[in-house]
Amino acid sequence: KETEQQLQFLSNYDRLTGLANRTQFREHLHKSLTLARLNREKVALLMIDLDRFKPINDTLGHPIGDLVLQRIANRLRLAARDGDIVARIGGDEFAIIAFGLGNPDAATTVAERVVEILSRPMIIEGNVVEISGSVGVGMAPDHGSDPDALVQHADIALYSAKHGGKQTYRLFEPRLMEAIQRRRSLEASLRRASMRNEFRIVYQPVFSSAQGEITGAEALLRWTCPQHGEISPTEFIPIAEELGLVSRIGSDVLRRACKDAAGWPEHIDLAVNVSPVQLLDPRLPQTVSQALADSGLAPERLELEITETALLNNDEAALRTLTHIRDQGVRISLDDFGTGYSSLSYLHRFPISRIKIDKSFVQKLPDDVGSASIVRAIAQLGSSLSMKITAEGIETDSQLSFIQEQGCDEVQGFLTGRPIAPADFLLLAGR
Ligand code: C2E
Ligand code: MG
Ligand code: MG
Repeated sequence: KETEQQLQFLSNYDRLTGLANRTQFREHLHKSLTLARLNREKVALLMIDLDRFKPINDTLGHPIGDLVLQRIANRLRLAARDGDIVARIGGDEFAIIAFGLGNPDAATTVAERVVEILSRPMIIEGNVVEISGSVGVGMAPDHGSDPDALVQHADIALYSAKHGGKQTYRLFEPRLMEAIQRRRSLEASLRRASMRNEFRIVYQPVFSSAQGEITGAEALLRWTCPQHGEISPTEFIPIAEELGLVSRIGSDVLRRACKDAAGWPEHIDLAVNVSPVQLLDPRLPQTVSQALADSGLAPERLELEITETALLNNDEAALRTLTHIRDQGVRISLDDFGTGYSSLSYLHRFPISRIKIDKSFVQKLPDDVGSASIVRAIAQLGSSLSMKITAEGIETDSQLSFIQEQGCDEVQGFLTGRPIAPADFLLLAGR
């Protein structure tokens, strides 16, 4: 009898967390939906996915990963109400079936609580684990009254939560389907584009703040999708990262930009953006030296722009890669500074020679008191650490004067020059 009970338990419950497993989840969902239909009640399905579980598992090891999952399970039990069903339906995927909800608002309240409770950091065996989760919500009968339809719609909401910046929830709505179709079709086009090299590079001039002379240019990638038209790099780079295409696309940009820059006057430097995913690739230093060798561009004229996200989590590997690159004579700058963690320890630990103040601050100058003090503080920080400072996103004369008063070294923005085609940049650069 005991063995039978144990077998019963094993086939219905997840061994690691003791939550209902996938099989039992499906059974519960089926029953709950039938009951709800009879009683004319609403049922909410919350599909939950952890945002950064894989890197945690990879860096801290599986035993810690298991502990994280167990704690998450406990937190979900707390977030759910009596009678709700909490299940683990995959590696880092969970679900809650919630009952007795009068309207979608009640369901989003539960979702909000789940997001909040999941984003509290954990301390496990001396490690601080920063974790968070995304939630997709589907309501029965509004978004489907059979299990398959409801799961599918809640999954679509989850997908949209994950691509909408994570650590958030979304309630299903029909327009999310269109967004998903667009995304799928963009993915397919992007794969084709990267095979056929359908990208263009434009160059935005950078000027010295004091003399107003052109000192360099930032290479910015452009892509016109055959179906969807011009797509911003802020949209397609993250997709390329997810599809594993960004290293290939990134090395191509590096190669082509170095070739272009080798034809510019020698006092004009080149800045190229490097995605955090590229930085994880140990071949990056090799790619950089190859691009320099092929083009004949002096390493001192090249600067790679990274963002702080690249330095999070895997900072040992990032440090090694960046040091290799710096040892070749190439400089590293920290892009979009102020928007991420802005941890001062990065500036100290990593071989960074320039900070680029994010345009979100610059654009609120000079009136916004908060932005003004942030810009002032970053400028001072830069000069005391002997780093160069660039302010990006300058659009007005008053922003420019403010930046000049702060003693920033370089300026970049639509006011001084928009990104332009390589041939136009060559003219501007005076050759
Ligand atoms: P970023 O590196 O911070 O580049 C600056 C962005 O600000 C560019 O947008 C530029 O066009 C825009 N910008 C410059 N001045 C102004 C201004 O005065 N006002 C406004 N509103 N915007 C200004 P873009 O070209 O859309 O690129 C967006 C982001 O995409 C870049 O931000 C960078 O993070 C990424 N990106 C672009 N090209 C590449 C690339 O080749 N590789 C990688 N990994 N990322 C890239
Ligand atoms: Mg940049
Ligand atoms: Mg930037």
